Amino acid sequence: MRFVLFFVCFLSGAAEEKMPIAYSPTEVFAVGKPQQRAKWFINPNIRVCDSTEVTYSRISRAVRYWENAGYVFDNIITDSSPDCMNPLHGEIIITIPESGFANHHMASTRIYTSTKTGDIVKAKIQILPKNARKERVIEHEIGHALGWMHYRQKSHIMHPTWYLGGYGRYGLRK
Ligand SMILES: [Zn+2]
Repeated sequence: MRFVLFFVCFLSGAAEEKMPIAYSPTEVFAVGKPQQRAKWFINPNIRVCDSTEVTYSRISRAVRYWENAGYVFDNIITDSSPDCMNPLHGEIIITIPESGFANHHMASTRIYTSTKTGDIVKAKIQILPKNARKERVIEHEIGHALGWMHYRQKSHIMHPTWYLGGYGRYGLRK
C-alpha cells in the first residue's frame, strides 16, 4: 500500500527551553479550533514496545483519556521483541527513537495516510523511557497519532510546549 508521511511532532519541554511567560504570548492566543490533519477509518491497535518502559497500566490510562473523548481503539498489545520498531497497517506503535534523535525533544509522532483515501493507516510514536514517564506526554502523542495538530491554548493537551500544556481537550471530541 502507498502512503504519505504526514508530519513529525516534536514536543518541546526541556527546562532549559523555558522562557518567561511575558516572552511567550502564544499560550494566550488560541485562534479557532484544533485542527485534525487526517482521521482513522478503522479503530487502531496500539502496540507498545518494551524498550519504552511504558507499562500496560500507563498506556491503559492514556487510552482511557481518549476513549473519554469518544475515540475507540481495538487492542492494546505489548511487544518484547527487539525489532519492535515499525507500525503495521492499522497500528499505532510506541517505540524508542532511532539514533540521531535530538535529545531536547521529548517525543515525536509520524502519521502515515493512504494516498487513495487520505485516511490514517498507521502511526509511529518515538519516545525515550524518561519522557514516557512524564505526565501527559503519551496522551499528547496519541493525539497526534489520531491526526490532531498542535493547539496553543494554555492547559490544552495538544499544546506544543509541555510545561504550558494540561489535560484540556477543547475541540477534540470525536
Ligand atoms: Zn506535539
